[in-house]
Amino acid sequence: MTEPTKDALPITVRNVTKTYGPVHALDDVSIDVRSGEFLTLLGPSGSGKTTLLMVLAGFTRPDCGSLRFGDDEVIRTPPHLRDLGMTFQSYALFPHMTVAGNVGYPLKLRKRPKAEIAERVAKALDTVQLGGFGERRIDQLSGGQRQRVAVARAIVFEPRILLMDEPLSALDKKLRDQMQIELRHLHEQLNMTTVYVTHDQREALTMSDRIAVVNHGRIMQLATPRDLYERPANRFVADFIGESTFLDVTRGDGGVAWNGMALKTAHAVPEAAELQLMIRPERIVLRDGPVGGMNTFEATATDVVYQGDSYLLHARLADGTRIALRGPMRGTAALPEEGQAVTLGLAPEDTVVIDASEQ
Ligand code: ADP
Ligand code: MG
Repeated sequence: MTEPTKDALPITVRNVTKTYGPVHALDDVSIDVRSGEFLTLLGPSGSGKTTLLMVLAGFTRPDCGSLRFGDDEVIRTPPHLRDLGMTFQSYALFPHMTVAGNVGYPLKLRKRPKAEIAERVAKALDTVQLGGFGERRIDQLSGGQRQRVAVARAIVFEPRILLMDEPLSALDKKLRDQMQIELRHLHEQLNMTTVYVTHDQREALTMSDRIAVVNHGRIMQLATPRDLYERPANRFVADFIGESTFLDVTRGDGGVAWNGMALKTAHAVPEAAELQLMIRPERIVLRDGPVGGMNTFEATATDVVYQGDSYLLHARLADGTRIALRGPMRGTAALPEEGQAVTLGLAPEDTVVIDASEQ
């Protein structure tokens, strides 16, 4: 068990822009990473995640903007003086060197004494559960083990900031799930501000204290996993995270209106030119008939899929909109049949109205 010896540092990014010809890889990005937090950059391929991480690490110099670690401006500080550890998307390990050689490399570059290197390497390998693997060669290791070596190398000098670029994307699902939990434990054990990159929304929801959703080099929303999922700020975030049906609505009495039907909402309706009601499959429920206080929709079941612990129902609303509903399987309750008329209920607390005019 490694005891934290230094305090974690907050990261302050202000108005950072990076262009490659006509491409705005980063477009006026400002973000505050709290000291000791696990923050994930989540976005589609090409959205600017790696560029932002490279700016934090010092491998990419932005066109303009400011970057502070704690109170220090570091935008002109070279990478090796930034006191941070990083894992790269490709692992970037030296295949013919031993595990210990790879993990100790950053310390060798820093010209640390041999005895100290040996001690720190052993400690880092223990931390990632590779104790005793020091003399193996990288090309004798599995994908999951290589990934751990990359992490050990990133934490070997106990940096105050850890940057990880899609560290699990090359692993199969089972190992990925296991490593997500392990990396999270590691974060709790070592006192490091962590910026983690992934394009996998489930991974981001599982691991992060907060998530910054990135698109076209801009931060679309920065929030906790729960707030992102339940209160997306715009259509892009609502679409990118989870599955949803969107209905075009207008502002109405006590909420919104859809196709002339009043819908009650328990939340404030955004001030926006275009509004949409976002309906998550697990929030809309099957009803025997209208229930007081609930918003109800008449629909026709088009497809019913039994999934063991739950069922997935696809239905068509009066205007033809397709909607998905997921419900728990309980006892011997009958499921609707294809073509059957069904009533769907949506509680006012579960209505989420988003600003659809922002992309
Ligand atoms: P992500 O990591 O989210 O997939 P990147 O940060 O790698 O995205 O890239 C963001 C955008 O910047 C992309 O359009 C990419 O093609 C472009 N880009 C990144 N690095 C370079 C580079 N060195 N030269 C030219 N274009 C680049
Ligand atoms: Mg990338």
